[in-house]
Amino acid sequence: MNRDKLIFEKSVPGAVGFSLPDLDVPPEEIEKLVPPELIRSDLNLPELSELDVVRHFTRLSQKNVSVDTHFYPLGSCTMKYNPKVNEEAANLPGFTGIHPLQDEKEIQGILALLYDFERSLCSIFGYEAFTLQPAAGAHGELTALMMIKEYHRSRGKGARSKVIIPDSSHGTNPASVAIVGYEPVVIRSNGRGNIDVAALKSALGTDTAALMLTNPNTLGLFDEHILEVAELVHKAGGLLYYDGANANANLGICRPADLGFDVAHFNLHKTFSTPHGGGGPGAGPVGVNKKLVPFLPTPRIVKKGKKYKFSSNVSPKSIGRVHPFHGNINVIIKAYAYIRSLGGEGLKKASEQAVENANYMMNRLKEYYWLPYDRPCQHEFVLSAKWQKEKYGVKALDIAKRLIDYGFHPPTIYFPLIVEESLMIEPTESESRATIDEFCDAMISIAKECEVSPELVKNAPQTTPVKRLDEAKAARELNLRWLQEPLK
Ligand SMILES: *Cc1c(COP(=O)(O)O)cnc(C)c1O
Repeated sequence: MNRDKLIFEKSVPGAVGFSLPDLDVPPEEIEKLVPPELIRSDLNLPELSELDVVRHFTRLSQKNVSVDTHFYPLGSCTMKYNPKVNEEAANLPGFTGIHPLQDEKEIQGILALLYDFERSLCSIFGYEAFTLQPAAGAHGELTALMMIKEYHRSRGKGARSKVIIPDSSHGTNPASVAIVGYEPVVIRSNGRGNIDVAALKSALGTDTAALMLTNPNTLGLFDEHILEVAELVHKAGGLLYYDGANANANLGICRPADLGFDVAHFNLHKTFSTPHGGGGPGAGPVGVNKKLVPFLPTPRIVKKGKKYKFSSNVSPKSIGRVHPFHGNINVIIKAYAYIRSLGGEGLKKASEQAVENANYMMNRLKEYYWLPYDRPCQHEFVLSAKWQKEKYGVKALDIAKRLIDYGFHPPTIYFPLIVEESLMIEPTESESRATIDEFCDAMISIAKECEVSPELVKNAPQTTPVKRLDEAKAARELNLRWLQEPLK
């Protein structure tokens, strides 16, 4: 295989990249302090000059795909641009130099920011209060479901054991339901991509704890019967949960609390532009209406006069702490900077632009790929490679890989589960008309390749350092060790 050398293979004995100052403690003193078995002399580290190290890692970083380098239309994940001013704000020494155990008197600035951020979220989404502790969307779901459980328990009205979710839901929904000990009940969507109201009616009962819904859902469609759905769930004594991980179509346009959702989580690392990928860090604040406020995690930040403080005694019904300290503060600062720099009008414009971009793309592409739900979409839309698969044996996975050759990150594929060979595309508001057109041109050109040279698409990517990997093996038999003697 023709590959770049590893940094270990580039090592030249004796080369020096960094010189440590002379030891100012006599070696005998160190030996007295440190047990001999802990002293190492041969670290077996590569030896290179500083320039060689810089070149090696800079080149490697350029093989990566990121929002800063490529269009990244990963549906549901909202890979929007993260403005650099957010990073600058989060790097201010007043933020980076503080410690969560510091006295409240010394950290009034960050407490004020967190307090103000919570108020901003309340006004954007319509909730009474928020917890900023959860570290991700799934963590927000868990936190919210714990509150829902405590709410029902505190009312002592029979055992509610089931949470209803539509078949278009994100995989974290049933997982979170199961983790808190509820039973997930999946109901089907109808031909327009809405919840099937008849199916909902027959699933609802005295054992219903909640309905979890994403709206617009993972098909990018707004549920046309949401007010009726909310009424039905509430009548049955259940609560309405809003999975707002991706709320990119809602800002300044529609507030989930106004639609009847009692509790909701929002991913700052999606809608509010903070970076994500590679496993985090993220933040999934949870908003609640009045009836759930007593169950919020503690400590909460309270304001007395002009002073801010943490309070753990706000409610005996609190579910307690769900995160060490106070959440991923760094992520919250970035989201705060994003909200404050756009302002109310700017946030609304961002959502409008995201919706416009998605509809423009959907309409350019629907002639070439099957569009299973043909109605105006919100911030994302779902195409299918069904035609390509039936006629030429080319699958969504092949098309996704071919897009890499064209210089684009592939969209989300095979999700949502209810669309066969799905390609879930979310351009976000960040992209220019020119970039969006380039992506559409690539998708159209790939559709033509499927007709004339399907093998080209099936064997993509053609231009990357490694060709198509066996994804199961790459995950299950991953071996990243470097050994002087290769493994037998
Ligand atoms: C991303 C996402 C989640 C999960 O969020 P994480 O931060 O990855 O845990 C849940 N629901 C929907 C609809 C999402 O898009």
